[in-house]
Amino acid sequence: MAANAPDFGQIAKSVELETKAFINGRFVDSASGKTFDTINPATGRTIAAIAETDKEDVNRAVSAARTVFDKGDWRNQSPRDRKIALLKLADLVEKHQQELAAMEALDTGKPVLDAFNADLPDAIATLRWHAEAIDKIYDVVSPTSSDIVSMVVRDPIGVVGTVIPWNFPLAITAMKLGPILAGGNSVVIKPAEQTPLTALKLARLAAEAGIPDGVVNVLPGYGETAGQALGRHADVDCLSFTGSTEVGGYFLKYAAESNLKRVLLELGGKSPVIVMDDVDDLTPVVEQIAFGILFSQGENCSAGSRLLVQKNMKERLLAAVLDHFRTWKVGDPFAPDTRVGALIEEKHMERVLGYIDAGKKEGAKIVLGGNRVLEETGGYFVEPTVFDNVRNDMKIAQEEIFGPVLSTITFDDVEEAVSIANDTKYGLAAQLYTNNLHIAHKVSRQIRAGTVSVNCFSEGDQAVPFGGYKQSGFGGREKSLLAHDQYLQFKTIWMQLR
Ligand code: NAD
Repeated sequence: MAANAPDFGQIAKSVELETKAFINGRFVDSASGKTFDTINPATGRTIAAIAETDKEDVNRAVSAARTVFDKGDWRNQSPRDRKIALLKLADLVEKHQQELAAMEALDTGKPVLDAFNADLPDAIATLRWHAEAIDKIYDVVSPTSSDIVSMVVRDPIGVVGTVIPWNFPLAITAMKLGPILAGGNSVVIKPAEQTPLTALKLARLAAEAGIPDGVVNVLPGYGETAGQALGRHADVDCLSFTGSTEVGGYFLKYAAESNLKRVLLELGGKSPVIVMDDVDDLTPVVEQIAFGILFSQGENCSAGSRLLVQKNMKERLLAAVLDHFRTWKVGDPFAPDTRVGALIEEKHMERVLGYIDAGKKEGAKIVLGGNRVLEETGGYFVEPTVFDNVRNDMKIAQEEIFGPVLSTITFDDVEEAVSIANDTKYGLAAQLYTNNLHIAHKVSRQIRAGTVSVNCFSEGDQAVPFGGYKQSGFGGREKSLLAHDQYLQFKTIWMQLR
């Protein structure tokens, strides 16, 4: 950390936490009075007791969101005024970015410098980008005969429920909140039970930014209770979910069994990283491979978890990968040289270790790591792990591990690379490394994934869509102007002139 960098350890000790639910502009206890503990994954110790909401709280929050939507306190504000409020929210997040980064690291176990240098700037830029779009989206007049005026106008969809995962709590909440609020909707946010802290702080900042009571509500609680109640609520018009493919499927069922609400799903991935033998400089390639699978401890939906390398360069690439992976230090999220923090919870760590065992049993060879480390801290740390001799039909190549575990698979030619890359139920992202322009163009079109990054690991920026093919997504795209249309509906006005 630079000499003048904030002392995040100190900030974490003094940070003021919101622990109650936020409904209709006020922090309140849950209706049942119950609480649950949010745990620091790096120590296993409790950070705070948080209000545990369930169906009754969902009913209250949805009712508040509906009331303010019907009154029009937010949706009927001029686009310019809504833009000003949303920009103010972005400014407030920026003002509190050190505390928010400290909270995020405490709650998720991720390195605080990742939170500060990646999650926070991303959340702020996202809110600003969508705020700026508010007064630049035009509706259309359609081509008709001269006695007809036909307009196609956008309406907000109404009350949006959103259920958030634990890996990028603030950044993903901002990614949804931006376009939801830009459209004039109200929202009920259910953060993951493991990571409620930054969403609750965001609720306070939204109120401070002048967003009317009831427009933003935050309900900490469990998936099967609060999450399900939101998914099944008949007065929720749209449910936007990011999380596992399994739970995403439940939301389709909830919608089918309630009110056919619009469902938007951003789900898991098993992203391939294809390295062709024409690549000459391996240094940037191994840096990007490491970033793709080790950043965020591998708890990243678009993590590059399958390394597909052309056979004749495997030995050279793997040697460079191992050398570089060894420089990613595992440790205390608040230590300045830590690059791999703790996994989110004990159960998840056991799951990741279970996959490592399954890989060994199926005949893949561990060439780096493979173990829990730093057990004495009470935290849930797993070291960077690399498997060689993986076949694409093995469990470790087909299932999302969501940890710092890379599986190496070889291929002979570009056709085989594409075939292995596409041989998965997922289709969220892919990386391709090549110096050949023809291969770059052809392969990036042939891969069935929502984002293909060439000669880098990237999810793009706010201006480009993000979402999954196949079982990695459903119903829409995050980011870009496409994200706005997810939370709007089109109305045709057909007017006969006399
Ligand atoms: P998860 O599906 O277990 O939980 C996500 C959210 O769903 C949490 O808020 C949880 O409380 C809620 N939930 C759980 N069970 C529920 C139920 N029965 N009914 C209603 N809600 C329920 O996922 P996770 O473990 O928090 O996150 C990891 C997953 O998220 C990975 O699969 C990852 O790939 C995916 N993810 C995808 C993206 C993307 O943009 N595609 C981004 C981040 C994470």
